[in-house]
Amino acid sequence: MISFQSKELLETSIQPFIIPSEKVAHVQMGNSLEHALLLLTKSGYSAIPVLDPRFHFHGLISSPLITDSILGLERIEFEKLDQKKVEDVMNRTVPTIKVNSQFQQALTLLIDHPFLCVVDDVNYFEGILTRRSILKELTKQLHTNKKQ
Ligand code: AMP
Repeated sequence: MISFQSKELLETSIQPFIIPSEKVAHVQMGNSLEHALLLLTKSGYSAIPVLDPRFHFHGLISSPLITDSILGLERIEFEKLDQKKVEDVMNRTVPTIKVNSQFQQALTLLIDHPFLCVVDDVNYFEGILTRRSILKELTKQLHTNKKQ
């Protein structure tokens, strides 16, 4: 059975595990889908945050969302890529987390999401928290506990 000082870990702040906003690839709501697709393809990320010019978080954009929005009846209508904007197709219903949240809350949300966007009280974008970084910390704690 897995057993460790779970209470302490679960109450830890997520702050040390956040990738800061300056290191996060993002697009603006008014960018074209072509720009977003280029960024997604070049970066290799499955989805990236959508921000406004004042750096507030509004949602996520992904390659499947973009492809789906330019699907015609018999072909992919690539010419629509520079006509449509990110704000026309982005996903606005994604959970966010606050900088001072605890590990426990992040763990629960990361079951269904590969990463979470971290925002402050007025939705200013602070960075992201990935499932990878949380799993890495969990594994570290489990190994440390095994040795004791
Ligand atoms: P990873 O845990 O590194 O595999 O990242 C999981 C997902 O988080 C990626 O597919 C992206 O959607 C997002 N992500 C991770 N790092 C970044 C970054 N620096 N900029 C934008 N999105 C990121």
